Amino acid sequence: MSYQEQDTHVARLHRVREALLSYARSPRAQRGVDALLVTNIVNVAYLTGFSGTSAVVVISKDAAAFYTDFRYFAQAQAQCPVYDVRMTTSLTESVRSLIDEHANWKRIAFEAANLTVDMHGRYVKPAQNNVVRWIPTVDIVENLRMIKDESELEAIRVAIAIAQRSLNAVAGDLRPGTTESAFALALEAEMRRQGADKPSFDTIVASGPQGALPHHHPNDRVLEPGDLVTIDYGALANGYCSDITRTVLVPGGPCDPEKQRIYDIVNEAKNRAIAAIRPGATGKEIDAIARDHIIAAGHGEHFGHSLGHSIGREVHDGQTLSSRADKVILTPGVVTTVEPGIYINGWGGVRIEEDVLVTETGHEVLTESAGGLTTLG
Ligand code: ZN
Ligand code: ZN
Repeated sequence: MSYQEQDTHVARLHRVREALLSYARSPRAQRGVDALLVTNIVNVAYLTGFSGTSAVVVISKDAAAFYTDFRYFAQAQAQCPVYDVRMTTSLTESVRSLIDEHANWKRIAFEAANLTVDMHGRYVKPAQNNVVRWIPTVDIVENLRMIKDESELEAIRVAIAIAQRSLNAVAGDLRPGTTESAFALALEAEMRRQGADKPSFDTIVASGPQGALPHHHPNDRVLEPGDLVTIDYGALANGYCSDITRTVLVPGGPCDPEKQRIYDIVNEAKNRAIAAIRPGATGKEIDAIARDHIIAAGHGEHFGHSLGHSIGREVHDGQTLSSRADKVILTPGVVTTVEPGIYINGWGGVRIEEDVLVTETGHEVLTESAGGLTTLG
């Protein structure tokens, strides 16, 4: 743990405390909560630097308590100097007694998208119900996570570089006679060799007619010369994800003009949407730019998913670019994918995905932008 990392976690703790003061579920609701119980382990890692898999954190204006069990205690002491790290045999009992020690905690927020009904019941002691109100929240830490700082951006750049190097390294494996699943395995193994902890999600390799399925799971279909192949993949490294899609040709066959035409529509939709990314734009506006281009080309009904999503510690990190995202306002420090596609049953599909940083003045494409339709490598 460097001083710089420690500063980062001090700053994040400070920002959570500010968020607790102003938190309100609705404009009419009472403002502020006295403490936050953080059970989402991804949020725990973001706030504290902890890389284990079992811990909870309680934050108030003067408390920063971290509970874990015997397996992770020494690790947590080393990784989380900003927190009061305690070992426990029962996370729920420890949190409850911490609450008992703080008679002034009347409103305690919990992470409703993470805490199960069963676990919620164990944290809420019947006797506390009269004095403590548990407030379901969904966005306190997630909102902070949306804006990436320099160290996070560097981690995302590394995750992108690993993914791109790996695809280049296995380019020769994408040839007639190979199966989708064999190529997916080669790519995932290469990402591990290049420094990924693991793939950031299960690799998609969708060839020929199977390209019509956006989330196709690679199977034993054998690649044929001239097939279109959609490869959607990413690396997880140092806690951060990349997410890239390339649609390429299997070498050795002719490229029929229809494949070229569909590819060019998707790539142009992608480029137009990226060109419009800037602070203040809404997710709905950016989605519409790509979607309108695809609709004008006659393929509106073949683009059935949203245009993109933010990435970070998770491959779907909280925000989307979609026709419903009129309240998503792009802000400097957000990293979002842009991934239009066209999927035609029985024919196949094309998707192209870049990772884009929203900057103070516009945007920066973090991936090596896809050009025209070619074979890989
Ligand atoms: Zn993807
Ligand atoms: Zn994606």
